[in-house]
Amino acid sequence: MKPTFASRTQGMGTSIFSEISMLARKHDAVNLGQGFPDYDTPDFMKQSAIEAIVQGKNQYAIGSGERILRHAIARHSEHWYGLSFDPDDEITVTSGATEALFCSLLAIINPGDEVIVFQPYYDSYCPAIRMAGGIPIAVTLHAPYFSFNPMELAQAFSPKTKAIIINTPHNPTGTVFSLQELQFIAELCNEYHTIAICDEVYEHCVYDGITHVPMQKLASMTDKTVRISSMGKTFTATGWKIGWAIGSAEFQKALRSIHQFVVFASATPFQYAAAAGLSADDTLYREFALDLQKKRDYLFSVLEQYGLQPQKPAGSYFILCDISGVTTLPSTMFAKKLITELGVAAIPPETFYHTPEIGNRLLRFCFCKQDDTLHKAAERLSQLSTIL
Ligand code: PMP
Ligand code: GLN
Repeated sequence: MKPTFASRTQGMGTSIFSEISMLARKHDAVNLGQGFPDYDTPDFMKQSAIEAIVQGKNQYAIGSGERILRHAIARHSEHWYGLSFDPDDEITVTSGATEALFCSLLAIINPGDEVIVFQPYYDSYCPAIRMAGGIPIAVTLHAPYFSFNPMELAQAFSPKTKAIIINTPHNPTGTVFSLQELQFIAELCNEYHTIAICDEVYEHCVYDGITHVPMQKLASMTDKTVRISSMGKTFTATGWKIGWAIGSAEFQKALRSIHQFVVFASATPFQYAAAAGLSADDTLYREFALDLQKKRDYLFSVLEQYGLQPQKPAGSYFILCDISGVTTLPSTMFAKKLITELGVAAIPPETFYHTPEIGNRLLRFCFCKQDDTLHKAAERLSQLSTIL
């Protein structure tokens, strides 16, 4: 008899990021799909990883994270947000934000608990909620500004709402939640005793002088919030997979009990490099955001010029477009056509919705790419009308 596999794997399919990247490689398309930079990590960080390896930091790290990194995360939190956390008891290092999210959900959710997510959502949220036995409840961020309707959010809360995932700056819409929006969510969390799991991996990708405010800043939420981030975006090192979760000592106990049996510990040398990155001067962060802002503006003007109706993002490194002006095809089919006939890859966000029909008018373009890559994409997009 052939072996059979767990029913939880059914319907998961392949992540849209892998699918589009594979198709992009096959057709030699300019890849503005999966969110990773095609330029390199700063030299001082590469050097720091190399030194850690040469110095023999090659065995298992401390399960909760190397001390030097937990301290660097605590200093970063204090410096940027005025939030003090104990590096020993209130910070855990994980294998990227993805693992921090997964283990946090397993540490918080009991079977049957509901978890509110804003749609479009990052693709790992719902599978992780379901693997924890939870039920994802979607609240829509409405076009064109991709903000939520307060009534709709209030209606989604119930005594079963154990957690809400708040991703700000938001992938894929680029929305940065305002203090007022966070206050509104916090009131609901306090009323229903709901934990906020905050995914802030784009915390330093904010533009036009907008400030990123962590939910943990709100006094009523400090002990009910888990703040998750990682080094992938901020330090142009998505392949190093070092992330962290910041929250109360009670939460960390629960999180670490799961984390120890999922990965035990995260890659040792990259923890030293992450500590070096987090200790960098403010200029590195500012230049990083300014550089991305220029790329955003350039790609935005290109997408606008060819009728793709982009929405300017306040944060993240993605631009969401409304394709209705150029095609009636659903975005998955249109994305495939763009790759195969024009040589430009973008992400169709249907899978980021409970109700895919909302997403099938949208297409996500990533702008954390070299100027040459963006110019090449612009050249190809200038031929868009020939394939319509
Ligand atoms: N959350 C969001 C919103 C993301 O876009 C990503 C993609 N990098 C992640 C989490 C995963 O981060 P990491 O690579 O650190 O696991
Ligand atoms: N975060 C990246 C994106 O949104 C992709 C990460 C992944 O491939 N899982 O494109």
